[in-house]
Amino acid sequence: MTAPGQGGPPAAADVPRRNWAGNVRYAAREFHRPATTDELRRLVAGSSRIRAVGTGHSFNRLGDTDGDLVTLAGLPPTIEIDRERGQVTVAGALRYGDVAQHLHTQGYALANLASLPHISVAGAVATATHGSGQTHGNLATSVAALEMVTADGDLLRVDRDDDTFAGMVVGLGALGIVTRVTLDLVPTFDLRQFVRLDLAPEALDEALGSAYSVSVFTDWRTPTLREVWRKQVVDQSPPEADWLGTTAADEPRHPVLGMPAENCTVQLGVPGPWHERLPHFKLGFTPSSGDELQSEYHVPRASAMEALAALGDVAHLIAPVLQVCELRTVAADELWLSPNHLRDSLAVHFTWVDDAAAVLPVLVEVEARLAPFGPRPHWGKVFVTDPAELAARYPRYADFTALLTDLDPKGKFRTDLLDHYFPR
Ligand SMILES: Cc1cc2nc3c(=O)[nH]c(=O)nc-3n(C[C@H](O)[C@H](O)[C@H](O)COP(=O)(O)OP(=O)(O)OC[C@H]3O[C@@H](n4cnc5c(N)ncnc54)[C@H](O)[C@@H]3O)c2cc1C
Repeated sequence: MTAPGQGGPPAAADVPRRNWAGNVRYAAREFHRPATTDELRRLVAGSSRIRAVGTGHSFNRLGDTDGDLVTLAGLPPTIEIDRERGQVTVAGALRYGDVAQHLHTQGYALANLASLPHISVAGAVATATHGSGQTHGNLATSVAALEMVTADGDLLRVDRDDDTFAGMVVGLGALGIVTRVTLDLVPTFDLRQFVRLDLAPEALDEALGSAYSVSVFTDWRTPTLREVWRKQVVDQSPPEADWLGTTAADEPRHPVLGMPAENCTVQLGVPGPWHERLPHFKLGFTPSSGDELQSEYHVPRASAMEALAALGDVAHLIAPVLQVCELRTVAADELWLSPNHLRDSLAVHFTWVDDAAAVLPVLVEVEARLAPFGPRPHWGKVFVTDPAELAARYPRYADFTALLTDLDPKGKFRTDLLDHYFPR
């Protein structure tokens, strides 16, 4: 099957020169858009320094390189469903939104999605992108197999039976260029999305566990948490009128105050398919605010209330540079570099104003307050964590570093940011 909006003649001019937010201008010497896997293999084999870019929705220099930058958007946009195994194998450059639309027409779904459907599968998986729901792992946990071009240009396929598979899925783009990803499927399902206003912080725990996927938004300016977005299966009863002391939103909302709600997926309890309710933002519209930076930290789910109280001490620093803060849950997994490694998590996300000079000092304070909870930053967002501290928060960090050296001995896929966090 060929997905919509992909393919077309390969042209290096189509490779993005900067990330989606515009805060990173890629420093690559050359930009490439191969049309076949063989062309990609030759490119990788002949390059001394190379990285793949997905849809460029990361906020840091993890994916930047001073060598060759390659998009896989010119490769055939295949989606192959294996009904017997309940899995789908997709071209890594495809966007989750395009994959989801096709799966739904075939009676299938993915267990979870991020807040936006615009991101590529390979790019999202590489950074352990997640949605919400305390029984759902991040998006990388649905990966059953990967096909990648390794540093010497070989094609490598790994699946859950391989010893190092758990180290390779959240690969930060550092182990190889992922051409195809196999994902677990579930039967398609419908959800309803209710937005509730003014949650008392004491009720946070209960609210987060109240439905399939729950997001809580706050701007750290008011004593209550501003909005709860409850995405629930259709046969769960709607929240009662006075649910946890909140009131019902009587019109659609955008997470960022003042932004148009028409960019957002349908609310007010109208039933709809999973891929049109799990993300906050519609595929055809701009997600979030656009002029922004993002950071996110995963802390143990059991420490949620304490971690929030610690951040409350610096609310006066956070609020002036914040557009919105989102709280979500993610189930524990075994992937080596997953921020949810062996830990049910609360993910504390910040959409900042687009002003790095103003935001960075606040990030230092935020990280200091969260330090007692061993925060693991989102790999694709802005963070300032000390490398030794970060290493200490991942039990398999040394194993991942060994995997890096093993698969990429000459550092072909390395970037400055990787060298900083995984010194050779
Ligand atoms: C508006 C907005 C909302 C967001 N919401 C969420 C959210 O709800 N949850 C969440 O967890 N994150 C969220 N993010 C962050 C985003 O999901 C991640 O940064 C994700 O990695 C972006 O995917 P991408 O395809 O744009 O990857 P890119 O930013 O292009 O690349 C990310 C990394 O993956 C590598 N990579 C890309 N393609 C390949 C490949 N084929 N093979 C090997 N490596 C590859 C790159 O080299 C890079 O290191 C959001 C970002 C934005 C801008």
